Amino acid sequence: MGLRIHFVVDPHGWCCMGLIVFVWLYNIVLIPKIVLFPHYEEGHIPGILIIIFYGIAIFCLVALVRASFTDPGRLPENPKIPHGEREFWELCNKCNLMRPKRSHHCSRCGHCVRRMDHHCPWINNCVGEDNHWLFLQLCFYTELLTSYALMFSFCHYYYFLPVKKRNLDLFVVRHELAIMRLAAFMGITMLVGITGLFYTQLIGIITMWKQRPHFPPSP
Ligand SMILES: [Zn+2]
Ligand SMILES: [Zn+2]
Repeated sequence: MGLRIHFVVDPHGWCCMGLIVFVWLYNIVLIPKIVLFPHYEEGHIPGILIIIFYGIAIFCLVALVRASFTDPGRLPENPKIPHGEREFWELCNKCNLMRPKRSHHCSRCGHCVRRMDHHCPWINNCVGEDNHWLFLQLCFYTELLTSYALMFSFCHYYYFLPVKKRNLDLFVVRHELAIMRLAAFMGITMLVGITGLFYTQLIGIITMWKQRPHFPPSP
């Protein structure tokens, strides 16, 4: 499937996306350092769990990049309206271009998007016909990564044997509790937020498929 590259110039969106990348980096660096590697070295967990953690993290980042930089379904300047479908098209009063009826004009992106769901500042892109599926993938991998990180944080304090060899010269070891509390706060916030979003997205997509109109997407 040939997805077109799309880049939205919006400093507000860049800040939101930067925050998401920061949360990702924070957990990717600190959870293995504080929890996974020490327990692996002391034989409490197998190495495969660390590989799975990094695997999900990479899927998550790839999904973020794809959802952010894929054209959500921008209407071309001179769309070819198939014969007999003119009644399903209308003129956008903001960009003066013809668009299928369920398209919307996004003021942040500055153009109309086919089957636009919403403009998501966290991916700095619209969620529309061509990247809806990528957006759902991103929600799914984020849920998975967050649950995985939270589960290990929980096990670190309540289930695994305590780590014996600790290098107190390391900043992360001396500030472990504060770092882990912040990680848990981020994790729970993400989990609650994305569960809500994921739910409304799934309902939206099911409704969209049920009401699918009978004209093909524009070229
Ligand atoms: Zn428009
Ligand atoms: Zn937009």
